[in-house]
Amino acid sequence: MKNREKRESAVRLSYIAIGTTKYSAVMKAAFVLSPHKVVVEDAAIPVLGGREVMVRVEACGICASDIKFFNGLKSYRETPFGRDSPGFTGHEWAGVVVSTGQDVKTVREGDRVVPYIVTSCGLCKYCREGRENLCAEKRYIHGGFAEYVKIPEQNLIRIPENIRVEDACLTEPTACCLHAIEQLNLKPDDTVAIIGDGPMGLLHLQLVRKIGSRVIMIGHHEERLGIANKLGADLVINSLKVEPFEPVMEATDGYGADAVILAINNKDAMSNALKLVSKGGRINIFAGAHPDYEISVNPNKIHYSELTITGSADALRKNYHEALRLMKSEAVKPSTIITHIFPLEKIEEALEAMQKRVAIKAIVKP
Ligand SMILES: [Zn+2]
Ligand SMILES: [Zn+2]
Repeated sequence: MKNREKRESAVRLSYIAIGTTKYSAVMKAAFVLSPHKVVVEDAAIPVLGGREVMVRVEACGICASDIKFFNGLKSYRETPFGRDSPGFTGHEWAGVVVSTGQDVKTVREGDRVVPYIVTSCGLCKYCREGRENLCAEKRYIHGGFAEYVKIPEQNLIRIPENIRVEDACLTEPTACCLHAIEQLNLKPDDTVAIIGDGPMGLLHLQLVRKIGSRVIMIGHHEERLGIANKLGADLVINSLKVEPFEPVMEATDGYGADAVILAINNKDAMSNALKLVSKGGRINIFAGAHPDYEISVNPNKIHYSELTITGSADALRKNYHEALRLMKSEAVKPSTIITHIFPLEKIEEALEAMQKRVAIKAIVKP
């Protein structure tokens, strides 16, 4: 038996052995012991409860939030530093069900799945309104930088057959973009400026193109802007070389962009968005900003121009299903932004590659 098979039969046995004394099955998992210190070590495979499912992780994307956590800039109640959080913050995963708790009804061994990563109280005003991403009790389901991850049945979504794992693992970021785009009420004859040529900017580009709106991509990495071109951007602006205002005005008959997506959030992002947006236009603050950033906005700009400024955080469950449907019909291929694939043992290199912007999107395959 190969090592992985051996471990998998241990996973099944360990489930059967719930309630008995020792737990022997082990897996490889990454841990962030303290900021900037990540190790890959053996960890106990968690025991399943009745409505829980064990998934073998096939691929897990590295998200900006993983890097923030790695750098100590962000903490999660559910993911402390140290050895208590196997697979730490990895949430952009796709995998295969290897074992199910006794009360699980909707998935079975062999099903390919992705996680819906949010859990919430289900009772508050926001949960009642279907906006569980705003719930004060919101928690995330993490743990994808490991061979196995345990997840409640209700947080699993089955992957349609023809979707490659490299696309499926990016369901969550794609869903987040869809949630942001939803707030902008885009129409096919709109022009959308996307500020930020990182992985999320490039995902936004693909989705906005799908709606039919024209896209102006603004960034400052030649390689990424080259990809934006290939993905069908109508205009690409390298803001290191040219001030975006004039070309954006030229491309929109002097009106400005109907909508602006902030896929990056540095100090100037919002003031740039306000310069580029047309009257009656919409801005979505998609990217999180450094906690110390403050912006000052002249209220008259919003008042007289009738601007709408929106935010978006995470995604709703329905956005995950939409994302998978778009992948199934090949309308969107999130994997086009993947430039680097690392084995789990090299997760530190993967984090570095993203951090130093060598990679556009790096994924890890345990
Ligand atoms: Zn993410
Ligand atoms: Zn709630």
